[in-house]
Amino acid sequence: MIKSKAYAAQSPTSRLSPFELNRRSPGPDDVQIEILYCGVCHSDLHTVRGEWHNTLYPSVPGHEIVGRVVAVGDKVHHFKVGDLAGVGCMIDSCGHCQSCDEGEEQYCENGFTGTYNGPVFGGENTYGGYSQTIVVRESFVLHIRHAEKDLASVAPLLCAGITTYSPLKHWGAGPGKKVGVVGLGGLGHMGVKIAHAMGAHVVLFTTSASKIEDGKRLGADEVCVSTDPEQMASYANQIDFILNTVAASHNLDAYLQLLKLNGTMTLVGAPAEPHPSPAVFNLIFRRRQLAGSLIGGIRETQEMLDFCAQHQLVSDIETIPIDYINTAYERMLKSDVKYRFVIDMASLT
Ligand code: NAP
Ligand code: ZN
Repeated sequence: MIKSKAYAAQSPTSRLSPFELNRRSPGPDDVQIEILYCGVCHSDLHTVRGEWHNTLYPSVPGHEIVGRVVAVGDKVHHFKVGDLAGVGCMIDSCGHCQSCDEGEEQYCENGFTGTYNGPVFGGENTYGGYSQTIVVRESFVLHIRHAEKDLASVAPLLCAGITTYSPLKHWGAGPGKKVGVVGLGGLGHMGVKIAHAMGAHVVLFTTSASKIEDGKRLGADEVCVSTDPEQMASYANQIDFILNTVAASHNLDAYLQLLKLNGTMTLVGAPAEPHPSPAVFNLIFRRRQLAGSLIGGIRETQEMLDFCAQHQLVSDIETIPIDYINTAYERMLKSDVKYRFVIDMASLT
């Protein structure tokens, strides 16, 4: 066993505080990574506060992990000690269902194992990246091809990057397509950057008028302040695809009305409370679709990392020490983060 310092929440109402956990010693297929940085996803907050009613405690969140390989098992062929490596939202899946065969482990029919909070269909707890070290099977470890100096800003790609890349690609974001991104947070700002890099015409929808300039700097061709009904009305029936990253329950109809004939809005935000249902006429009159999407498979996560390295895309981050995490959560709830907190794990001593 390998001891690792970490931060954990002991209950839905407790603050995150120092904790010690054990990692297994690396087996033949395992890679051990010294965690250098870990991004802070809104899913971490939903989980530690028990908002999805499935949290196993103690809860050690963190699924935007980057670091350096410090040990490898005998049968590990693609990583060696000293390599940079990443771990995202999954550390295992059944490996033999149709989804796993197709490289879409996130839709594993038997339930993937989350990097934290254990297997999705229940099982022993797993501990995430708010810790010093992690041991993961090689097939769930990603190669980082960005420059080492950018490592902290690469961490958020492991969740925010793939969760936006996968649906943008699936629904055909690219030249000639008008793509809306709703919410300029961790996911949303990567959605804007990636959709722009894919060649789409990007319209950002934000509740925060203070983010207009940033939205444009990050790659939005147009920014609509979604609390202004006149601005919203000017986009009616114009958008091909909307990626909705909002972390809170809200009125989906306001956005469905903006879709063209056959347009799709895909929800990636996973709020604790359900959305008020869409008005059926907003769907049937223009054959619009309302969809959802979950992270992305391992193969596609590597593809996204390589796409981002090639296009020199990283996350805009605020680096924090781990003892700032409880304050960071409060700021994230107020949409006061530009645009992802990343924990510098050197602060975990
Ligand atoms: P985040 O950084 O907090 O960003 C969410 C953004 O939504 C905010 O910055 C804000 O943007 C907007 N927003 C917040 N409250 C709102 C409200 N009441 N009405 C309208 N807009 C609001 O969160 P995140 O880390 O990007 O995560 C977003 C959601 O995606 C979370 O629910 C998370 O659990 C989920 N998630 C899903 C997946 C998946 O696989 N599907 C993966 C990762 C995360 P503006 O200020 O621009 O309005
Ligand atoms: Zn996440």
